[in-house]
Amino acid sequence: MPLKDECKLCGRVLPISYTRRCQRCGKIFCLDCMVPDVVTGDIRRLFCLNCARKIVSPKTGNKFEALTRYLCFRESFTKTVKLSFAQIDGIIGDNLPLEAYRSEEWWKNTLKTAHAKAWLDAGWEAAEVNLKEAYVVFKKTKSTPTETTERKRKKIRQEPQKPYTPPPARIFSRRKLSKTKIAKLYARLKNIEKAKASKPKFRGDFKPKPAHEKRLMKPKSE
Ligand SMILES: [Zn+2]
Ligand SMILES: [Zn+2]
Repeated sequence: MPLKDECKLCGRVLPISYTRRCQRCGKIFCLDCMVPDVVTGDIRRLFCLNCARKIVSPKTGNKFEALTRYLCFRESFTKTVKLSFAQIDGIIGDNLPLEAYRSEEWWKNTLKTAHAKAWLDAGWEAAEVNLKEAYVVFKKTKSTPTETTERKRKKIRQEPQKPYTPPPARIFSRRKLSKTKIAKLYARLKNIEKAKASKPKFRGDFKPKPAHEKRLMKPKSE
């Protein structure tokens, strides 16, 4: 029996010489679906692309919170939201589990599952699920739990913790310049202009033609 293994990401079955074990999740992947250690660049430590992504942008807490936020946002415009499973993938930044594609049970409105809690917390419920066409319709329920606003506030507080913190705005630069400063700058500009004008543009000492003469000589540009 030839030694082959299936890549857990792309699903291809390849000789074991072309597969490795991910140092993070321990599953087998093909070399195409792996990258060297994203932190140290160590090529002996290979991570699968899923793990690499998780290392680069770690999700804080429950990924379905993004769905809660999304529904809270849509709430201002509509009471019904139809989302394809692929759109939800995009919102939560991860793939929905296979279970979501296979069973309607997964979409049940229950507080027992983290994902259903996500839309129930936002005050929405899954009203229609179509597994065949892979979409779900969420409907806004009447009551809006107070937790929603609490989550929103929490989100705002979490905002500055992102890896990238923009430099503080330079408010002082918006202060009005003093008249003296403006006058000085203006004088400097004038001086530069004067210096430019006095510099002979041509060798010899004939004068450059005045502007109106130049205009006369210029061929019409069309
Ligand atoms: Zn692969
Ligand atoms: Zn992995």
